[in-house]
Amino acid sequence: MNTQTTLIIGAGFAGSVIARELAEAGQQVHIIDKRPHIAGNAYDELDAHGVLVHRYGPHIFHTNSEKVFKYLSRFTEWRPYEHRVLGVVDGKTYPFPINRSTLNQLYALDLDEAGAAAFFEKVREPREPIRSSEDVVLNSVGRDLYEKFFLNYTRKQWGLEPSQLKAGVAARIPTRTNTDDRYFTDTFQAMPLHGYTRMFENLLDHPNIRMETSVDFADVPDHDGYAHIVCTGPIDSFYGYRFGRLPYRSLRFEHAHLADTKQFQSVGTVNYPNDHAYTRITEFKHLTGQQCDGTSIVREYPMADGDPYYPIPRDENEALFKQYEALADAEKNVTFVGRLAQYRYYNMDQVVAAALSASQKIMEKL
Ligand code: FAD
Repeated sequence: MNTQTTLIIGAGFAGSVIARELAEAGQQVHIIDKRPHIAGNAYDELDAHGVLVHRYGPHIFHTNSEKVFKYLSRFTEWRPYEHRVLGVVDGKTYPFPINRSTLNQLYALDLDEAGAAAFFEKVREPREPIRSSEDVVLNSVGRDLYEKFFLNYTRKQWGLEPSQLKAGVAARIPTRTNTDDRYFTDTFQAMPLHGYTRMFENLLDHPNIRMETSVDFADVPDHDGYAHIVCTGPIDSFYGYRFGRLPYRSLRFEHAHLADTKQFQSVGTVNYPNDHAYTRITEFKHLTGQQCDGTSIVREYPMADGDPYYPIPRDENEALFKQYEALADAEKNVTFVGRLAQYRYYNMDQVVAAALSASQKIMEKL
């Protein structure tokens, strides 16, 4: 490996983990981010009222990978946290994802586990083959639950009908016959004790790493001087949108502080599938465990335009991405990793895992 410098575009999970790995292996790293801060979409900060909030929407860490959890544990202590979500239907709140309690409360039943399984079997609309998100949900919970919890939420979130979205979107949400009301069931569920930004500061704190915020790759004059480039920003932008723009769904975050409210809602997130222009409200104190008098919340309004947040999983979009991927595969000195570079919905732990394995491959090339 030579000791020339690697340029990394983007200081989110993908870029920061690769920066650390290369730095520890003796490589010089120059990492830039066009935003005025590190941590990518996981960035958290104290708001004007001293409450720790996530600027780009709630980020809850969960993983089944001991390797990823141990890796991040080098840079943060943790606060155990299991996320819970309620869905509002006709003015009442119900556990979400749908479990036995949801059925019992919604339909005034007293089902046990076998009864809940029989209920789903009776109401489900079997679909074969399962292609769309509509197929997934109707096939598992039937039309009434689909219309109450999924249909309008999906329309709001994606601006598309569930029948227009690939199956994978809805397949991420389980249906349970037990009363487990946790949103995730992963082995490791915890929040960085002092927040994500602090964890990223520790990740990037290495003498071989030079970090610059508010620097756009487009403004870096001489790319050729770098031994390698790692792009964690949008792949279509890297190639000057030559095949057209990859579509993304965006969000507008409306943050609010309620000075006279100690607790706004009983769980971290409440979904509003059928009411309002926003999809959900998150109250940060649940996630962070912070003790203070007032409370801070965020409402998420899905938008067609704005910062790229969610790749839209449709066949034509994946075909467009494949064109860009073919260019990427032909590159010797550029590696593409992360949500925007791989045009894939990745959870944070998946990005860390992808970044660790990409680091190995990059080091073999250097
Ligand atoms: P990013 O964090 O987006 O980092 C990419 C960075 O590249 C950005 O900081 C960007 O500014 C920078 N960049 C882009 N272009 C350029 C350029 N030209 N020059 C310089 N810099 C550039 N995951 C979970 O595991 N749990 C959750 O609860 C969760 N909640 C989420 C909620 C929302 C609303 C969203 C949108 C995502 C959520 N995620 C969650 C996913 C999580 O945000 C991603 O897994 C993670 O941010 C991906 O890291 P990344 O490094 O690939 O991308």
